[in-house]
Amino acid sequence: MPLQLTFVTSAKRYVDLPDSPCEVAFVGRSNVGKSSLINALANRKQLARVSNTPGRTQLINLFTLPNGGTVVDLPGYGYAAVPGREKAGWQQMIEGYLLEREELDLVFVLVDGEIGPTKLDVQMLDWLRANQVPHTVVATKLDKVKPSKLATRKKELAKSAGLDTGDVMWVSASKGTGIEQLAKHVVGLLTPAP
Ligand code: GDP
Repeated sequence: MPLQLTFVTSAKRYVDLPDSPCEVAFVGRSNVGKSSLINALANRKQLARVSNTPGRTQLINLFTLPNGGTVVDLPGYGYAAVPGREKAGWQQMIEGYLLEREELDLVFVLVDGEIGPTKLDVQMLDWLRANQVPHTVVATKLDKVKPSKLATRKKELAKSAGLDTGDVMWVSASKGTGIEQLAKHVVGLLTPAP
């Protein structure tokens, strides 16, 4: 079952986001495949904008599920074309959200499965750990890894992210691999306890 996500709002500041019973967020470097993944989870082509679309990709985007739980798409980090001032703004926007958003239950940090964690990804993971923000890693673009290299790559990626191999979820938005499982995980997290 795809996630029944409905776009609600884009905001520059987390304080402008609506209240939510519970929330998960997706974050990652620009081009990691975040929009493609959110679109795949929802089985919609244009829900999250694929990169290079100016505007919405620089804002915090919030979606709801029918039960009221919310999914947040954070702007991608490390985009070379972002001028210094905006980079600082990004940092404020994201750090404020990650530290202060009370509804936030879990952050999915996306890492490119083909290239592994970049320096910025490692910084992000260290920062989340240091600030005790609950998070997990999803490796994207599984289809780009040669099957003969996959076992090694899985081990390496988990190690450089500071995790056990079994703790990293692998997905391919293009092929649909792991999408159902991740969607179920998200629904599980966002379903209020009876
Ligand atoms: P974002 O900037 O993180 O939102 O990344 P996008 O979703 O825009 O994807 C960046 C690029 O990676 C695009 O060219 C996508 O087509 C490509 N991409 C995204 N997911 C996958 C995937 O699962 N497999 C492959 N092969 N390419 C992907």
